[in-house]
Amino acid sequence: MRQSVPALRLPALFIGHGLASNAVDDNVFTESWSCLGSGIGKPRGVLVISAHWMTAGSIQVTAMERPRTLHGEHNPTLQSFTYPAPGSSELAARVRELLQPEAVEYSSDWGLDEGSWTVLSHFYPAADVPVVQLSLNISEPMAWHFYTAEKLRMLRSEGYLIIGSGNLVHNTVMADYDADNMAYSWALRFQKNIAEAIREGRHEDLLDLTSLGQESGLAVPSPEHYLPLLYVLATRDMQDDALEFITPQCIYGSLSMMSVALWPSANPQAE
Ligand code: ZN
Repeated sequence: MRQSVPALRLPALFIGHGLASNAVDDNVFTESWSCLGSGIGKPRGVLVISAHWMTAGSIQVTAMERPRTLHGEHNPTLQSFTYPAPGSSELAARVRELLQPEAVEYSSDWGLDEGSWTVLSHFYPAADVPVVQLSLNISEPMAWHFYTAEKLRMLRSEGYLIIGSGNLVHNTVMADYDADNMAYSWALRFQKNIAEAIREGRHEDLLDLTSLGQESGLAVPSPEHYLPLLYVLATRDMQDDALEFITPQCIYGSLSMMSVALWPSANPQAE
């Protein structure tokens, strides 16, 4: 069993999830997610921090045995899509324990939202890996999210895969959904600035987006699709984790599909 071997850390991943239709589409993004899942193999469980679960003034974690599949209102053709992965009371309890003294509430009414299943349906199509979601306490500033998430670092040595699911540039008002491969220059500039800050470990800049250029207001008009990145970077081992930027492109003008992987040097892919 994984627990019996010397701490073999798992990667942590930020995934640019894009449209929920990616759950059933075959494209360069979904192909990369399939490769990631098959390369990493099945973890003990997955903790997903999704842009689509915001809780004001509280932290919640899904704690049901069989989380239901939640659907956004924008995708009528996906209303019957289900991703029946089991939950994990063990992982939910561990998250609650690690985040002390922050209070973490067990949720019995959330489930797996499109931030989870859009991606996981390609990582683990059989839905046979337990999944727990952690909510974003949207009342708190960016620095709080980062320093709270640092407490979750240990999960990577306990057999759990951490996935932050959002989009680094996410401006749906300016998006042109007829332009699959179009990118506004400001979106590309901001994506590049973010990648440089990550590469150089400038976490203080990642917590103060105005330091990354005047494009930040356009790129991150609201924080929820950006915040999952902080949960991933907070678990980074600056000595041991190698960085990889995957599919660093923007679509529809203002949607970054760049994903960020932290690969431990003893990464399971190298076994
Ligand atoms: Zn989204």
